[in-house]
Amino acid sequence: MKSLLLLLSVTTLIGILAACQFGNPSGGDSITVFSERHYDSDHVLYDRFTDQTGIRVNIVHHSADPLLNRLENEGEDTIADVLIIADAGGLERAKNRHLLRPIESAFLTDVVPENLRDPDNHWFGMTMRARVFVYHPERVGASELSTYEALTEPAWHGRVITRSSENIYNQSLMASLIEIAGEAHARDFAEGLVNNFAVRLDGTTTPRGNDRAQAISVLAGEADLAIMNTYYIGVMLNSGDATQIEAAQTLEVFFPNQATTGTHVNASAVGVVKHTSNVEAATQFVEFLLSEEAQRHFTTSNYEYPVNPNVEWADLLNEWGAFNAQDMNLSALGKHNRRAKEIMDEAGWR
Ligand code: FE
Repeated sequence: MKSLLLLLSVTTLIGILAACQFGNPSGGDSITVFSERHYDSDHVLYDRFTDQTGIRVNIVHHSADPLLNRLENEGEDTIADVLIIADAGGLERAKNRHLLRPIESAFLTDVVPENLRDPDNHWFGMTMRARVFVYHPERVGASELSTYEALTEPAWHGRVITRSSENIYNQSLMASLIEIAGEAHARDFAEGLVNNFAVRLDGTTTPRGNDRAQAISVLAGEADLAIMNTYYIGVMLNSGDATQIEAAQTLEVFFPNQATTGTHVNASAVGVVKHTSNVEAATQFVEFLLSEEAQRHFTTSNYEYPVNPNVEWADLLNEWGAFNAQDMNLSALGKHNRRAKEIMDEAGWR
């Protein structure tokens, strides 16, 4: 009995010494990130951050609204330190719900272009993407292509495909049209587009599937043109999936509204949670995401446009070339999100 007690106290002592020397493995520095982004390549970056700083990164994945609701419900007790949303509009909504705190970082305000960040520093754009046309060159002539709005013309009847209005990417496209030209203009676009939706092989025009599924529909002949985000072309080309590769190789990319209001761009964005218990580590993590190293990873691994202007675009993006983007602060996407969704519903965009 005595020897057992001695053994126990020796192991306890060793445990205490180990904790003093190496830090408590369960209580070391760590941050929890609530993220809507769903790209495997992000995890490589989180690991690199841990390697460089010793700060472990726990990820909680969900779509934007459940994450925002959870932050609100947890309040001061939240486990979250950082919020990443695939669409800048989501961060703007988080800001308006008082879920974020301003980030004090000269590096971030210096490196992130003004239109890609909150004027009050509650969120910063992290990676940029454009919402473009992807079309079948045997069924669409380049001279037919001009603007988002032109897709509502009779010549496009039954030829256009895009995903559901539940999806934030299309909601933000609509929000951008509201910002640029007002609600009546956006309504005309939504109604005209729905009217020109392609009839699928199952006989319906109801949108379904993700951006990649729309491109595959165009390849399969269900439609002639899809509206989708640029990075998915790169993801498809490198997917290892024969159909996705064929679609991405066959279809052409077109940047709309070049002579008018610019192509719709959006950004994944990041902010520090208002009730974080670790402001310093959270800020360090956000700065890491905007570092040249991380930005290079986003563009070469996920084919997004870097937000840090010191980082070169991936080759694929350079092949498409420079383009004119919509000129607006991305907070407008959050500001008009509710109306955008309502107008889409009223237009019958399912
Ligand atoms: Fe996406």
